[in-house]
Amino acid sequence: MKCLTCNTIMEIEDRFCAQCGTMRPLLPHHFARAEGEFTRFRSEFLSGVIDQAAFIHAVKELTIQDETGSFWCIGVQSGQWYRYEENSWVPADPPVESTSL
Ligand SMILES: [Zn+2]
Repeated sequence: MKCLTCNTIMEIEDRFCAQCGTMRPLLPHHFARAEGEFTRFRSEFLSGVIDQAAFIHAVKELTIQDETGSFWCIGVQSGQWYRYEENSWVPADPPVESTSL
């Protein structure tokens, strides 16, 4: 997802923007949980605990639905969020938890 301050692409493991240091926005809990699972599966894949087919299968299982009914998944290769729109997966930034500012 993009940094809300400077639009730099942030990796899924990043807690802060590498460019400007802005904290990664908080995601709704089911999005945050999917990211946590993705990170775990990817590290298992990279360390050879699971094979690529198992990794892809596991990531597909992380597809979630938001409160408006849209489906979201994390790209196996990119580690970025995609939203299902008009029969295809389109890169998109997930909804961000509203802050109390
Ligand atoms: Zn930034």
